Amino acid sequence: MHDYLLNDEGRKIKAEAREFTRWVPKQMILDMDKDIIRFPKEFLQEAGRRNLMGCRYPKKWGGRGLDWAATCAVMEEVGTVGYIFACTFGVGAELVCDAIVLHGTDAQKEKYVRPLLEGKIFAAECLTEPRGGSDFFGTSTIAEDKGDYFLLNGQKRFIVGAEGADYFLVYAKTDPEAEPHKALTCFIVDRGPGVKTEYLYGLMGCRGGGTGRLVFKDVEVPKENIVGKLNGAYAVFNTMMIPERLGTSAMTIGAARPALDIATKYSSRRKAFGVPINMFQGVGFQVAEAAMLLDASRSIVYTTAMAVDKGQDARQIRRSVSQTKKFVTESCQKIAHNAMQVMGGIGYTNVFPVERIVRDLRLASIWTGTNEVMAHIIATEWYREYTQADKASAARDMEDVADESEAPFEKIYE
Ligand SMILES: Cc1cc2nc3c(=O)[nH]c(=O)nc-3n(C[C@H](O)[C@H](O)[C@H](O)COP(=O)(O)OP(=O)(O)OC[C@H]3O[C@@H](n4cnc5c(N)ncnc54)[C@H](O)[C@@H]3O)c2cc1C
Repeated sequence: MHDYLLNDEGRKIKAEAREFTRWVPKQMILDMDKDIIRFPKEFLQEAGRRNLMGCRYPKKWGGRGLDWAATCAVMEEVGTVGYIFACTFGVGAELVCDAIVLHGTDAQKEKYVRPLLEGKIFAAECLTEPRGGSDFFGTSTIAEDKGDYFLLNGQKRFIVGAEGADYFLVYAKTDPEAEPHKALTCFIVDRGPGVKTEYLYGLMGCRGGGTGRLVFKDVEVPKENIVGKLNGAYAVFNTMMIPERLGTSAMTIGAARPALDIATKYSSRRKAFGVPINMFQGVGFQVAEAAMLLDASRSIVYTTAMAVDKGQDARQIRRSVSQTKKFVTESCQKIAHNAMQVMGGIGYTNVFPVERIVRDLRLASIWTGTNEVMAHIIATEWYREYTQADKASAARDMEDVADESEAPFEKIYE
């Protein structure tokens, strides 16, 4: 429905991504959910062979030079086979590589981006720590300058690809005396001596992505593995939040879509009281609500994608991607909820994949920044825009257009 928002190349890669989802074997999807597959290397290798990952990066580094709208179309399609497939696809190619493409050196791009986009190596993103994920700048993982290298010590938790990744993008404190926004540095850390996957989590959904806790003990990180500037992680973090939240939104739509498709088909065939259940308003209206939320989600995703492509003001983008993430992830959980509801008891069983989709999608409002954190960002940016608005070009002030607007002693603020 939103294909008109894509250019020819965007439509082409979307069709290729759709073709790729048909390639994903059924057994692979089921084995991921059972944690029989611990990390989907075969899936990522195939995505690499098809040159689907990181399509917005320059061709020079293995991308296709496309835009964010095309990226969203790919992420949506990949999400349809399962949220965790899109998670693993996204974390390495769309998040870690985004940081390296935007802030890294050419040598880093050659060594870490190109082979990843070819599906030959895998990466994970390490922000969250056992002490907390929301308070990211309170990071306690530390990297000490030892002259030729940095000595890394600390832990990161809930890392997709903790098992399976060949390298990690790690944020660590390098200036403990500095204020939080100037204290951290972003590093590429190879899996090697001192890097240990200590614990793998038993998850409600999104299984098979090797999600675990990593321990870094006296890891020697070469200085050339700094991404961006020393103590400059804030800049990297800021740009990374775009793929984190916009990419998450796009793939969430994809993950929810099959639930609506299945519920639509089921409610057209299933009969109660002698008629198809979609004849009952109680059923049809739930499907209608889900369809509306799906399209509204697409609208906000593509509008934000275009704002990013057109290089809109960075702080407005910050609010837009946060709004998009919150709206889409909540809407898509509602879509999956409605789908299960209209299917009755069978929707709650593993005869249909809707129960898996419900489990998987629960992650959407927790990871890449919780939706409470999104609300906090939205509020902060909204009030900032309000206080800094240029009154001369602002919309007409309507406050006094009320019969009793001048009523004495009624407009009380304290
Ligand atoms: C399956 C899975 C995969 C993940 N993958 C990755 C990954 O690959 N890499 C990575 O770095 N992280 C990953 N995460 C971590 C995820 O991003 C964090 O769990 C999330 O940011 C929340 O951090 P926390 O769990 O420490 O919760 P906390 O930060 O402890 O928050 C707990 C609660 O307090 C609320 N809260 C905290 N601060 C505020 C505030 N200021 N205002 C309002 N409410 C607040 C939160 O919204 C939440 O409800 C993953 C998590 C899961 C479950």
